[in-house]
Amino acid sequence: MEILRKPKWLKSKKLGAKNTQVIINALRKYHLHTVCENAKCPNQGECFENGTATFMILGETCTRNCTFCAIDKTKEGLKPVDTNEPEAIAKLSKELDLRYIVITTVTRDDLPDGGTSQFLEVIRQIRKLCKPDVSIELLISDLNGDLEQLKRIVKARPDVLNHNVETVSRLYKEVRPIADLNRSLNILQTAKSTDNSLITKSGFMVGLGEKETEVLELMKSLRDSQVDIVTIGQYMPPSRSHYPVAEYIHPGTFAFYKNEGEKMGFEIVESAPLVRSSFHAERAKKIINK
Ligand code: SF4
Repeated sequence: MEILRKPKWLKSKKLGAKNTQVIINALRKYHLHTVCENAKCPNQGECFENGTATFMILGETCTRNCTFCAIDKTKEGLKPVDTNEPEAIAKLSKELDLRYIVITTVTRDDLPDGGTSQFLEVIRQIRKLCKPDVSIELLISDLNGDLEQLKRIVKARPDVLNHNVETVSRLYKEVRPIADLNRSLNILQTAKSTDNSLITKSGFMVGLGEKETEVLELMKSLRDSQVDIVTIGQYMPPSRSHYPVAEYIHPGTFAFYKNEGEKMGFEIVESAPLVRSSFHAERAKKIINK
């Protein structure tokens, strides 16, 4: 299999390295995890510099087997829910004076409520300990399609509800074998129909072998599900044993998707090679406070 050389536009700016270490030390102190580290995200420094951090709850082991993802998937790794985690996240967020907090999770199909209670407790603790203008974005799993759990989350009023669709429908079987695009779109649509004032967000990667027409079709499906914010970034395999990258998409194509997305009516389109789901997430504040 031919290994594609990384083009120059994928070189990330090592911003906020000092901040990165401060945050990593604090995470250790509170026994907390971030997806930033686990997913080897190239933007860590910059996000921390912008007062944004993404905490990963419910452990570091997932019950799914997405072939693009570096997260541990071993059954032995599944741990009971850590009930100290919500307060620890709120305390650390207050200590770091974070202004935009993203809470993400592995998928826990082994838990009866898919982990919903932990999300609710994290929101409750942050609202209790942090400043009132702090924004909370939840990046949830598909909850295995359980709409009752979804409605509990929507009623807890996160500022932004995010659920990634990750790739185009044709590639689901190879890239997200246990997931289903229609189930994910239904989660996003139901969140909006449950509370029309809720800001919804989704994201996907490109460079896995999708065609431009498939990307535009996916963006149209997200708009039809009334999604407000979309993120589009370059897929970069965490290792050679993960799903292979098919193409490094040119920045011009990302600009084309951004333009098409704005024409489709998305409030915010983050589309560039190094964009990740939480990258520049704090920009949502402009529509939260609208
Ligand atoms: S559901 Fe999320 S955390 Fe789990 S394997 Fe897929 S991408 Fe990774």
